[in-house]
Amino acid sequence: MADPLLLELNGLCAGYGEIQVLWGIDMAVRSGEITALIGSNGAGKTTLMRALSGLIPMQSGSYRSNSEDLATASAAQILSHGIVHVPEGRRLFGAMSVEDNLLMGAYSRKVARAKLTRDLDRVYTTFPKLRERRDQAAATLSGGEQQMCAIGRGLMSAPQLLMIDELSLGLSPLLVEQLVAALRALNTEGMSILLVEQDVTTALDLCHSAYIMDMGRIVRTGQGAELLADPIIRDAYLGVLEE
Ligand code: ATP
Repeated sequence: MADPLLLELNGLCAGYGEIQVLWGIDMAVRSGEITALIGSNGAGKTTLMRALSGLIPMQSGSYRSNSEDLATASAAQILSHGIVHVPEGRRLFGAMSVEDNLLMGAYSRKVARAKLTRDLDRVYTTFPKLRERRDQAAATLSGGEQQMCAIGRGLMSAPQLLMIDELSLGLSPLLVEQLVAALRALNTEGMSILLVEQDVTTALDLCHSAYIMDMGRIVRTGQGAELLADPIIRDAYLGVLEE
């Protein structure tokens, strides 16, 4: 029998109060893969991440992770399943040090200090800049370093799935390259990642499979390389003129 899926959504509907934003999302995220979620502004990508992390309730449909039903689970229960959300805008505690921000990620874990130290070391190995800046207030970091800190805080929650919203927003191409390299390295070590990314080329190049959203629905799915080569996708999302 095939391994259970890390995330399995069928007909997921969600929104804000009376407003429905997501209309029957079907999605399968496999363990060990990078999955990208792309689509234009307002397509519903952030709303889907919020529903998956339990920040907004589902209106209908099913949501399972490793065969466990999470449709009515709270944000804390979902986090304890290892589904960890790195939100858009990073949401760091600006006055706190980088290290204290990272430790906040482990707040709900009941693990020995020695294990936390090892996990911190792993974050600092992934993002050496954070080790240099470990005692600095998070507010003094550059945008790229703040994103590293937000991802590092996510890693400190011991994720099975790291969900990152808007990886590259506001960052220079060089920083984006560094972050992409870090995500590739994490994935090579086995980390599963669900990524929302405005830069469609970066996202499709990085991911194993991708889902394209429009107006609250999944309109296309496929392997990253296959979608990147598709003239319709290139025309609609990459603004690339075919030769
Ligand atoms: P972006 O790339 O601009 O962040 P997105 O694909 O992440 O876009 P969402 O932020 O999920 O899209 O927004 C999807 C729809 O939900 C939009 O029409 C938006 O106006 C609406 N929406 C988002 N947040 C709320 C909210 N708190 N209350 C009501 N409607 C909302």
